[in-house]
Amino acid sequence: MSESKTTKFVTAGRDKKWTNGVVNPPVQRASTVVFNTVAEKNHATINRAKQTLFYGRRGTNTHFAFQDAMTEIEGGAGCALYPCGTAAISNAILAFVETGDHILMVDTCYEPTRDFCNTIMKKMGIETTYYDPTIGAGIRDLIQPNTKILFLESPGSVTMEVQDVPTMAAIAKEQDVIVMLDNTWGAGVNFSPFDFGVDISIQAATKYIVGHSDVMLGTAVASEKYWDQLREQSYLMGQCVSPDDAYLGLRGIRTLDVRLRQHAENSLTVAKWLEERPEVDHVRHPALETCPGSEFYHRDFTGGNGLFSFVLKTSYPRATTAFLDGMSHFSMGYSWGGFESLVLANEPKSFNSLRTVAHPNFTGTLIRLHIGLEDVNDLLVDLDAAFTRYNEVIQDAPAS
Ligand SMILES: *Cc1c(COP(=O)(O)O)cnc(C)c1O
Repeated sequence: MSESKTTKFVTAGRDKKWTNGVVNPPVQRASTVVFNTVAEKNHATINRAKQTLFYGRRGTNTHFAFQDAMTEIEGGAGCALYPCGTAAISNAILAFVETGDHILMVDTCYEPTRDFCNTIMKKMGIETTYYDPTIGAGIRDLIQPNTKILFLESPGSVTMEVQDVPTMAAIAKEQDVIVMLDNTWGAGVNFSPFDFGVDISIQAATKYIVGHSDVMLGTAVASEKYWDQLREQSYLMGQCVSPDDAYLGLRGIRTLDVRLRQHAENSLTVAKWLEERPEVDHVRHPALETCPGSEFYHRDFTGGNGLFSFVLKTSYPRATTAFLDGMSHFSMGYSWGGFESLVLANEPKSFNSLRTVAHPNFTGTLIRLHIGLEDVNDLLVDLDAAFTRYNEVIQDAPAS
């Protein structure tokens, strides 16, 4: 029976063999799995990679339920679990490269992804080329005979460029290049990676999957072709998570769809309000035309969430500090995806070390917001007061 995706968030992973007759699977804590007969032990050994209790590192029923749920909502053949999103990214890459290989990495990737390529990959003799997130079909010219992975992240970290994923994935496939996507923003709700040619979809489940800012967790869902290699290599790297964290990831999925819809509604309201502010140069919300690649958002995504950025007309750090200090509902924090609102500011020059080819074409301060589940009117009052503080500094000491 085919069911709506909304229903899937309620049903995914709730097989009786994991839940044991209650709604949620018990948190099954285990290192040792015990067998009473040689036949039982042999059965577990043969099936250890197929969701059979074998040894704690291979997972318990709590993990299996969460893995099934992730595979059901994202697509793909299986889901490997990691202690954080960064571990999911580095281990997914490590599982498929060897010395002499080449990686095509989007220039707007999450900062630790770049650092991983520039340090650990470099040390192993694996070369990385950074490409402009808006390159589209131009990616063809950057593929080398030794290119192993095309890595995408859409929208890009902080500057929010939406990529033409299907066009780029199709070109990579022609040359047998593995397509990996950091799908944290899509969250398994609004972007269906396997429908667009992605081979491995990675998420910082820390963000929207968990959704409550209280667990670090990473996932990588792979297509049939790459699942065995991803699973076994990650296993050899010792990647595993606690059943308590897997449980909280699974619990987050139950409300994921409805949470994201409210985040999206609130964030679009704030984004449109910001568009009218005289201090704002442009808003980088994927649903708005002023966000690079917005046309791909409208073509490929089914909805949004709470994370976007906007650019001020000026870069005036002291005024920005006044904007950020003294907010009531927006805290500063290096994360997003929880129920609460967050804010971070980036001066244009801070991108110098974070971009190789896609240098920002703006000169004002970029502010990234995560719009939470508060009443949006309270958030607008908070932002309005922040702009008042910002303007007071500029009026007191113009042209610093
Ligand atoms: C936070 C984040 C990560 C890393 O996740 P952690 O769980 O913090 O390691 C990776 N990619 C994106 C896009 C992120 O926002």
